[in-house]
Amino acid sequence: MKFGGFEKFTLIDYPEKIACMVYTIGCNFRCPYCHNPELVDETVTTRIDEKEILDFLKTRTGMLDALVITGGEPTMHGENLISFMREVKKLGFLVKLDSNGTDPVVLQRVIDEKLVDYIAMDIKSPIAKYTETVTRPVDTNAIKKSIEIIKSSGVSYEFRTTIVKSMLTFEEIEQIGREIKGAKNYYLQKFIPTKTVNPQFLKKVTYSDEEFASLKNIMEKYVSYCGIR
Ligand code: SF4
Repeated sequence: MKFGGFEKFTLIDYPEKIACMVYTIGCNFRCPYCHNPELVDETVTTRIDEKEILDFLKTRTGMLDALVITGGEPTMHGENLISFMREVKKLGFLVKLDSNGTDPVVLQRVIDEKLVDYIAMDIKSPIAKYTETVTRPVDTNAIKKSIEIIKSSGVSYEFRTTIVKSMLTFEEIEQIGREIKGAKNYYLQKFIPTKTVNPQFLKKVTYSDEEFASLKNIMEKYVSYCGIR
């Protein structure tokens, strides 16, 4: 398996752990606000072989706790992703997997094989608005299934939503709360315009701090913990 990026050190991508992070290439969504367009459209020129990542990890035993696998959409790599995760677990590292939830089969497999220690799944919008939000056809039953698999997995997890003001109303965000009701951890993520799949989105804004505080109150009706980041 080849990766489109590698960060050798991060303190912010795995809660309370010291980690490194790999970026998988390709995604089946085209969220207009996505800040990794070159990974999504596969124009990224970096190609790092998994052996290089595994060799690096071998030199970091006791210094790093974990590997974060993000994308793009990692689960699109199916068997290749699973066998890579097996090798990482053999080295004794924790693994966090970021996913858009489109492949519940892969999620179930990595949970069943105990290859993952933390799952972060994006909740893009209320289920009824998914296709409009990610600008690609979506099997929403797969999204619903992934939510349920993760909630009942026993693995640490979070759901999170990137909030662009013009894309999600307060009512729509509350509908997300209803659809993930009973979840442990949920994060409202402020959209920060840097680089985007759709350059028009560089002009978009998110809600104010006061509005985020109100949204947090709303979401706390549905989830055990709601954070803002
Ligand atoms: S933000 Fe959307 S387009 Fe970008 S990697 Fe995540 S799921 Fe894919």
